[in-house]
Amino acid sequence: MTIILASLLAIGVIVFILAVRTKDLPEPEPVSPFHYLDERKAAIYENLRDLQFEYRVGKLSDQDYQQTKLDLQRELAGVMAEIDRVKAEIAAGRIPMPAKEPVKPAVQPSSSKFVCPSCKAEFAQPLKFCGECGKPMKAAQA
Ligand SMILES: [Zn+2]
Repeated sequence: MTIILASLLAIGVIVFILAVRTKDLPEPEPVSPFHYLDERKAAIYENLRDLQFEYRVGKLSDQDYQQTKLDLQRELAGVMAEIDRVKAEIAAGRIPMPAKEPVKPAVQPSSSKFVCPSCKAEFAQPLKFCGECGKPMKAAQA
């Protein structure tokens, strides 16, 4: 039992390191397992929001939308389960408690984002109309 858990943990660490490498995240060292999982969770939420917008403006078919949404929700469920698993590991004392880190806002201001002047919603790409409030957005502000 302990061996299985230890090897699962080892696999998790390897996958984690590989994921960080391939994604080329700005921070070279992971702060804690939660930090990484929170980032993935935030990324999935952002993808869901983008997806919903593209569907609303008619860029996606019903089928594509439902399929991609299912995939994202499945991925999200996996991340949530992973968070629960890490919490359980910590509660059981199998892995050390990560150092407390300040709670960061989920949405970080970035120069590559396009912000709606009406409701301040942020989008990764320039849009004619805001996906949140539907008001016109100026595509090129830079
Ligand atoms: Zn808006």
